[in-house]
Amino acid sequence: MNIAENVAAVREVMDRAAREAGRDPKEILLLAATKMNDADRVREAIRAGVDLCGENRVQEMLEKQKQGAYDGVPLHFIGHLQKNKVKQVVGLAELIHGVDSLPLLETISRTAASRGLTQDVLLEVNIGAEASKSGFAPEEIPAALEAASHLPGLRVRGLMAIPPVCSAPEENRPFFLRMKQLFIDNSEKKYDNVSMDFLSMGMSGDYAEAIACGANLVRVGSRIFGPRNYGAPRVP
Ligand SMILES: *Cc1c(COP(=O)(O)O)cnc(C)c1O
Repeated sequence: MNIAENVAAVREVMDRAAREAGRDPKEILLLAATKMNDADRVREAIRAGVDLCGENRVQEMLEKQKQGAYDGVPLHFIGHLQKNKVKQVVGLAELIHGVDSLPLLETISRTAASRGLTQDVLLEVNIGAEASKSGFAPEEIPAALEAASHLPGLRVRGLMAIPPVCSAPEENRPFFLRMKQLFIDNSEKKYDNVSMDFLSMGMSGDYAEAIACGANLVRVGSRIFGPRNYGAPRVP
């Protein structure tokens, strides 16, 4: 299977999941999680019609961006962002998905404001309450939105989550449904600088379930590019 065929197959599953849930397929965005795939492969995915690219590592993103890998679609940062790398990501990534703490929000705000920019971000929710994962607890989200509403240079555009690893995609449904409810609950109150537009959840193994439960942005890597070979040296 090549990348174009994979993208077409993913789209088909997305469209079916949306229609079965009574949703318009056009309201759901496909982000290609491009980590460990070189610029040529990323371009191939863009030509095949993915809506967005998402990168995990800052250095890799900068290198591939210089090569024009993401030309034609918005670039998102979906990895764990360290405070000392914020300067390199603000203004380059249209949306930063995994903002997992108030100090990180504040650092992004300061950096963006000092450059006269507004940086869009998603708050990451640790929906499985896993000790190994970062993110806000669901009950911390209202206070985080309140705090964000007072920060310059920043706009919160929604929520993202990575549910616990599970053996079958259906097992993630309760987590996805809880995220959807959290998204709805926190959309009711209006805050400055907050616009709850994106619910980013679902990866290669479970994007259909995520769409059934309300995701409007899915992040798909291996289902588009094939398995990532973490062990082997990277081909230049
Ligand atoms: C790698 C990655 C994905 C895609 O993972 P696949 O299982 O390969 O689809 C999605 N989201 C994040 C945050 C990732 O790091």
